[in-house]
Amino acid sequence: MISLQFLGGAGTVTGSKYLLSFGDKKILVDCGLFQGVKSLRLQNWERFPVNPSEIDAIILTHAHIDHSGYIPLFVKNGFKGRVYSTPATRDLCEILLPDAGFLAEEEAAYLNKHKKSKHSPALPLFTLEEAKASLSSFETIPFNSIKDIFSNVRFEFKYAGHILGASSVIVTIGKIRIGFTGDVGRPNNPIFFEPTPMPPVDYLITESTYGNRRHESVDPSLELEKIIKEVELSKGVIVIPSFAVGRAQEIMYYLWQLKKSHRIPAIPMYLNSPMATDVNALFIKHHELHKLSEAESKELCHVVKYVRSVEESISLNKKSGPMLIISASGMISGGRVLHHIKQFGPLESTVIVLAGFQAAGTRGEALEGGSSEIKIHGAYVPIRAKVKVLGNMSAHADYCEIVDWLKGSQLKPKAVFVTHGEASAADALRLRLTDTFGWNCLVPVQGQSVELT
Ligand SMILES: [Zn+2]
Repeated sequence: MISLQFLGGAGTVTGSKYLLSFGDKKILVDCGLFQGVKSLRLQNWERFPVNPSEIDAIILTHAHIDHSGYIPLFVKNGFKGRVYSTPATRDLCEILLPDAGFLAEEEAAYLNKHKKSKHSPALPLFTLEEAKASLSSFETIPFNSIKDIFSNVRFEFKYAGHILGASSVIVTIGKIRIGFTGDVGRPNNPIFFEPTPMPPVDYLITESTYGNRRHESVDPSLELEKIIKEVELSKGVIVIPSFAVGRAQEIMYYLWQLKKSHRIPAIPMYLNSPMATDVNALFIKHHELHKLSEAESKELCHVVKYVRSVEESISLNKKSGPMLIISASGMISGGRVLHHIKQFGPLESTVIVLAGFQAAGTRGEALEGGSSEIKIHGAYVPIRAKVKVLGNMSAHADYCEIVDWLKGSQLKPKAVFVTHGEASAADALRLRLTDTFGWNCLVPVQGQSVELT
């Protein structure tokens, strides 16, 4: 008998952790951090229901922190097994996990300095060094190659097209096949190939981030073209807050296309995110995982000037427009973009371009909602800049795209578990899958166990 327990990513989009137990073995699929509102983040500090030393292996679908960010803590707390991922996922984790450790240390130091924590001293969830140490647990497995991990237990990664290296995972235990979609990419992404159809499985665990929403069918490059032309005339500054992984490269792709086809004037364009710059190098290294050749990938990366040092970053704020700055973080919750919003947000000639979903409670959401001031580094900054939203910039399939993707699979699962979505999104996808395919679909709650037979 196999039991599947939902230890994260149930009723929420973060903290993905799915525990498979059978015989004396335990495998965790994804090992993510809870992110977002405080009540969720606090769950990262709770004792994990299973001692990490009792878990034999982790299989990782992709590098996003809400899927991978708990690995350093797991290793710190006694996990001795292997973390299996695709090579590109491991390379991204080498950038993302130490950064998460660094940010956790910085936050703890801040709380201690300002005596803002109930705990004395406040400690990071894990440190940069602990994150680095956890990387030695990784073992990389390419797409479509079957890996035997225990007797009668094997798995395989399938291309999911969500970010570089992202996969769906099919775990076979005895005769039972269990498919985890991971985060599913989109059919018409300009950079990534479409997700590989899910092979026949007995049980399916699907994400539902956009379980109740559709993406707009607009071309983001048209909006960017318009904004850049306007700003060239007004000599303004365009600030684009962006995630370092995926989103930054997609924006650069549109800029590259616009520049190649002479649709935009030549204004200086900067990428002020050392992490995105490192990710660009992986984008070139793993070019076989997307539609662009090595030469095209390099050309795309050259569309912007890299800003590496803190000094260069500060001096950008002294330059005048027209220019365009892409900088992290994507929802203006931290990072270098804060300094640019502080500097250029009060100017009427500035355009702040929001590319993608802005979570509740973030500065990005406040700007999207039309706030005339936002708080940065303890002080209110008036916003006179225009705020524009680039539509159709998601790395997740919407519900129609998920249904179409599953239609290509001819699945006849015994049960489907709808995870990785807010309650309303997960329930909407449950209904949609039941209506479309007649499947037995369930939305599990956090901590729930089910038996797979
Ligand atoms: Zn993801």
